[in-house]
Amino acid sequence: MNMATLHHPHYILNFSSTNHCSPFPSHSSSSLTNRSISYKYKLPATGNRMTRSSSSDQAFDVIVVGAGIIGLTVARQFLMDSDLSVAIVDKGVPCSGATGAGQGYLWMTHKTPGTATWDLSMRSHQLWTMMAEDLQQQGLDPMVELGWKKTGSLLVGRTFAESDTLKGRVKQLSEAGLKAEYLCSRDLSKREPDLLVDKDTAAAFLPDDCQLDAHRTVTYLEKANRNFASKGRYAEFYDDPVKCFIRSDGNGVEAVQTSKNTLYSKKAVIVAAGCWTGSLMQDLFRNWGMEFQVPVRPRKGHLLALQNFNSLQLNHGLMEAGYVDHPSISGLESSDNEQNLSVSMTATIDAAGNLLIGSSREFVGFNTDSDESVINLIWKRVAEFFPKLRMLSLSDLSASRKVRIGLRPYMPDGKPMIGPVPGLSNVYLAAGHEGGGLSMALGTAEMVVDVVLGRTGKVDSAPFAVDRALE
Ligand SMILES: Cc1cc2nc3c(=O)[nH]c(=O)nc-3n(C[C@H](O)[C@H](O)[C@H](O)COP(=O)(O)OP(=O)(O)OC[C@H]3O[C@@H](n4cnc5c(N)ncnc54)[C@H](O)[C@@H]3O)c2cc1C
Repeated sequence: MNMATLHHPHYILNFSSTNHCSPFPSHSSSSLTNRSISYKYKLPATGNRMTRSSSSDQAFDVIVVGAGIIGLTVARQFLMDSDLSVAIVDKGVPCSGATGAGQGYLWMTHKTPGTATWDLSMRSHQLWTMMAEDLQQQGLDPMVELGWKKTGSLLVGRTFAESDTLKGRVKQLSEAGLKAEYLCSRDLSKREPDLLVDKDTAAAFLPDDCQLDAHRTVTYLEKANRNFASKGRYAEFYDDPVKCFIRSDGNGVEAVQTSKNTLYSKKAVIVAAGCWTGSLMQDLFRNWGMEFQVPVRPRKGHLLALQNFNSLQLNHGLMEAGYVDHPSISGLESSDNEQNLSVSMTATIDAAGNLLIGSSREFVGFNTDSDESVINLIWKRVAEFFPKLRMLSLSDLSASRKVRIGLRPYMPDGKPMIGPVPGLSNVYLAAGHEGGGLSMALGTAEMVVDVVLGRTGKVDSAPFAVDRALE
């Protein structure tokens, strides 16, 4: 199916009409004019991002709301795996959400076999690996295109109890089919000489775990998606927030109204707006006189990037054992921010050679201000593992440091929502991946497309159904 230029060929909706978001089907509430607006894409001299020269109506098979890693990979999957046309809309640009802060590990080491997210992550990991291999076959370097690195991962325990638990984890991971090894303190010390290791320290080692660079990967995905623009199958609408949904005659959404455009949907609207999905859906449906409470909430994270940092040698990606429980621990009931704040050590070297250390988790609404006290806590926590850092003061590194802040889309039960919105014929959610959106993206995208097209998926989508999560 190809992109149709206009849903109503000779009419456009009057954008000044405040009735746009009314509870009634659009054609009965919007004023129509026979003025036809022409529009075209233009490529700015500074880049290849498509912008609109004027407001317009346009129809696509699929409209994806949110151009983070989830929205971009969903768009890609529709483009690759169907002949549907796709529009992607974002209130900002792709890395302006949680995706831009992501550390980039796609590890399985902290995931638990037998859970629904395990299956999704495994499939996703397989698809990421296939993407990296495809690039290689095309003569491209996955490290350059995606920031792809197969460093392996170490989940580090520092107490006898933690290290003992890691033995069980290694057994579980091996039984689930992964190459996994238990490293006692001596073996661990050999692999990571800069890590503080005493007699109780040990690690679960997954040599096949990989990482990517979120920014490089996003650039690659955008480039790949834009290849379909010349075929009339793809368009981007950035810096153009979704304002409301226009309801169809039936139980669906006829169009997505952004601040600049009216985008008609012929097949499906996918909401992949990360931590904003809850508030967005609530606002959109309030206009229809409907209550719709999606429990996804922002969970703020700080990550510290140190450029050209060579005071520390790091041979693998590292994460402390305590991280395992963080994604699903709820602190929402607590009114005390101190109790909400948690910091656990993660350390990686990215494709450009920067040391990335993290990370924090806290529930402070949609606030994205940099908090120096949280950055200090991260530094202190990571220094507990790497004594060499104790000789350095963070203030000495101010010229070479960058702080990344993102709002993870937290779900109370630790699982993303992937699937149709109950009661609506053509609206789907793909949101709530908390700290694993990069790792679960390709599996999520495949699942969304399978669900929309009514295919049997590789991974069971039932555990991710939206209705299980509705309050
Ligand atoms: C510090 C940190 C480190 C992390 N490290 C990792 C990691 O190593 N590995 C991993 O797998 N995950 C990691 N994550 C988690 C990962 O980044 C997220 O799970 C993932 O980015 C979520 O992607 P998303 O597309 O759902 O959300 P986002 O990237 O937040 O994208 C949502 C998009 O929706 C847009 N939007 C919102 N409202 C509207 C509107 N009204 N109209 C139009 N667009 C709208 C936003 O502008 C945004 O671009 C990390 C997160 C943080 C904060």
